[in-house]
Amino acid sequence: MPRIGKVLVVGGGVGGLSAAISLAIKGVEVELIEKRPDFNVPGVGLGQPACALRIYREFGVLEEILDTGFSYDHMTIFDQERTPIVEHRFLMGGAGFPAFCALPRASLHSILYKRAVFLGVSFRFGIEVTDFSGPLGVSIGFSDGSNGEFDAVAGFDGIRSTVRQFIVGDMFGPRPSGIGAWRLQVDRPSCVTGMEFMQGIRGKAGAIPISRDKMYLFNIRPENPGEIFAREDMHVLLQERLLQFGGYVADIANDLNRESPIVYGALEPFIVPYPWHRGRVTMGGDAAHVVPPHLTAGAAMAAEDGFVLARYLLGEHGTIDDLITAYGKTRYDRNAFVYIFANDWLSMEQAVGSAAELASRQRRTHPKCRQAHRSGRPHSRYI
Ligand SMILES: Cc1cc2nc3c(=O)[nH]c(=O)nc-3n(C[C@H](O)[C@H](O)[C@H](O)COP(=O)(O)OP(=O)(O)OC[C@H]3O[C@@H](n4cnc5c(N)ncnc54)[C@H](O)[C@@H]3O)c2cc1C
Repeated sequence: MPRIGKVLVVGGGVGGLSAAISLAIKGVEVELIEKRPDFNVPGVGLGQPACALRIYREFGVLEEILDTGFSYDHMTIFDQERTPIVEHRFLMGGAGFPAFCALPRASLHSILYKRAVFLGVSFRFGIEVTDFSGPLGVSIGFSDGSNGEFDAVAGFDGIRSTVRQFIVGDMFGPRPSGIGAWRLQVDRPSCVTGMEFMQGIRGKAGAIPISRDKMYLFNIRPENPGEIFAREDMHVLLQERLLQFGGYVADIANDLNRESPIVYGALEPFIVPYPWHRGRVTMGGDAAHVVPPHLTAGAAMAAEDGFVLARYLLGEHGTIDDLITAYGKTRYDRNAFVYIFANDWLSMEQAVGSAAELASRQRRTHPKCRQAHRSGRPHSRYI
């Protein structure tokens, strides 16, 4: 008789869907609640690195993801006029799967949702947890007045998580960074075949191809924390912010209008130290850690959290408490690496404050790059 037979997953993002699929594959009865009324997800595109693609292969959906998205194996850093500075070739991927595949967020959700339904996960939309009770916290009250008993609860309810509140209270949570991300889906110029960054002064622009004909354009730059931009002003505000960039960015900026599907969000990074549980209520994904988008890894880490959690919950050695503790530790270690790396990159790029500084940084990095190239490390090529 398995010790974990029935699990409640809170939140239907990439993390919650991945946890639900991983548990259902192992024969666990899974109920997933999602507070939105349906799967009409906001957002633009998601670059998924090889680590996430490996998990999607386990779920049996890799082919559909690769068919839907755009695969790439390189990243290029340019100056504001899109003159290349360095090209980095990713040494990831493997037989049958690329280093990266990016696709529209809604497509990834829909592929994972279909798979979860196929595996028997039961979904309830428009509903939230209102009460965690019992000695292990797994006697659950729901916002529609119903109740449920579970062997464990997996909180993947995003950055403003209710489950995190139950586990650690207000001690850890999103913190304003003073940096915001503007995003927009547009037609893909044929020259964009990988991830691109155009380093500017106080911020960068860039693009990620998400299908054969589409890409998403982004601009990461200082913004007042808590600022909410009126929809009808967004195209003008983004035009102003993109003025320093040339190439296709300038063309796209010129074409912006009131109907342009611009999405804005503030970056609010944080990570909760382990343990990541209280009783048998645990968490993962953005509920436990939010990283700047620089490594395109937030959703990938959420998928990994869900996959790894299922393994630990169903482990046979040790108590369930030992296993959930080990899950929190191993995932904290992994996510802390991504968190530190992404935050460092964010600080370095946002610290470029003038044209002179930008030129000086280019001069300073060039010789190092050339050296790396000469030393036989083939993954970075300075241009
Ligand atoms: C600008 C930007 C670009 C990014 N680009 C990438 C990228 O290219 N690649 C990548 O891997 N990651 C990227 N990310 C990160 C990625 O978006 C997140 O890390 C990822 O979506 C987290 O998934 P999640 O399932 O943990 O949370 P979410 O996607 O936030 O899902 C949480 C779900 O829980 C639901 N919910 C919330 N509260 C409750 C509740 N109380 N009860 C029930 N349901 C609830 C929400 O409605 C939501 O559906 C980016 C992030 C930003 C800000």
